[in-house]
Amino acid sequence: MRTAVVSGVAVITEACLDVNDRSCVDVCPVQCIYEFDEPSNLLVSEMRAGSGVAERTHTANAGAATVFGASLLYVHLDECTSCAACLQTSVCPVGAIYAEGRMPDGSSAAPYNLNDPTIGHDHSWFAQHSRNVFAG
Ligand code: SF4
Ligand code: SF4
Repeated sequence: MRTAVVSGVAVITEACLDVNDRSCVDVCPVQCIYEFDEPSNLLVSEMRAGSGVAERTHTANAGAATVFGASLLYVHLDECTSCAACLQTSVCPVGAIYAEGRMPDGSSAAPYNLNDPTIGHDHSWFAQHSRNVFAG
């Protein structure tokens, strides 16, 4: 269960690490959720997760993208339309996705997703990190 879904660009946070099941990729209507391919230093989005067919690519900022590498997915926040499809409770099994305007900051009153195993952590860092991984 999650607290009320609110709009805003979507940010993927630490609970995705090593879960990375790509469920969010398949509900995103604009293919703005990317995986990092370290050998090519590209961030790649696919129409269907695992299809191997790239819909879009961006050059990565290697210094940022290699912090978590392919263990985490990244929303391009300038491409996200705030449609909220990926924020629905049925999508992310670990509640890792938040609207940027509702990023939990570690305070006791913060609205965490109840499926998020990292409840209590300050997630606000991930919004800037989502911007940093894209080189331009
Ligand atoms: S809010 Fe909509 S457009 Fe943005 S990442 Fe989620 S599904 Fe994609
Ligand atoms: S649905 Fe959640 S765990 Fe799966 S890839 Fe997306 S953010 Fe990561």
